[in-house]
Amino acid sequence: MASIFSRIAQGEIPAAKIYEDDQTLAFLDINPATRGHALVICKEEHPDLLSVPPDLLAAVAQTTQKVARAVTEALKPDGYNVMQNNGSAAGQEVFHYHVHIVPRWEGDNAIRAWKQGTADTQELQELATLISRQVQ
Ligand code: AMP
Repeated sequence: MASIFSRIAQGEIPAAKIYEDDQTLAFLDINPATRGHALVICKEEHPDLLSVPPDLLAAVAQTTQKVARAVTEALKPDGYNVMQNNGSAAGQEVFHYHVHIVPRWEGDNAIRAWKQGTADTQELQELATLISRQVQ
């Protein structure tokens, strides 16, 4: 079954659209964290970051920059977050690759920063080695 975002891309479900090209679409989030919270999707359905072909990923990145610029011009926020969730443990609800652009205003408390931990230098180095071996 097509994802809700595919149905938006195909025009079956309405959305407050901001920008569209052959490969990508941007529209406002229906449950916004802040005013102007936007989503950028690839029209082709891929569940998450790892499954999106690189050229499509680049197209989403370009649209994200375009929309972030437009949001900044239109709403003059103090800043914005660009976020992307993968897997339900990370808060992903719609399994169709998308990027959030969340305009931020000082003191809005819209998104909690993560709790920062500590790590020793050796542990960081071991982790970096473990991960770097898997880079393809
Ligand atoms: P995520 O948790 O990263 O998967 O984010 C999914 C986002 O999609 C949530 O912020 C939802 O509010 C948003 N969303 C779900 N359905 C719709 C819809 N029909 N139109 C616009 N945004 C939607």
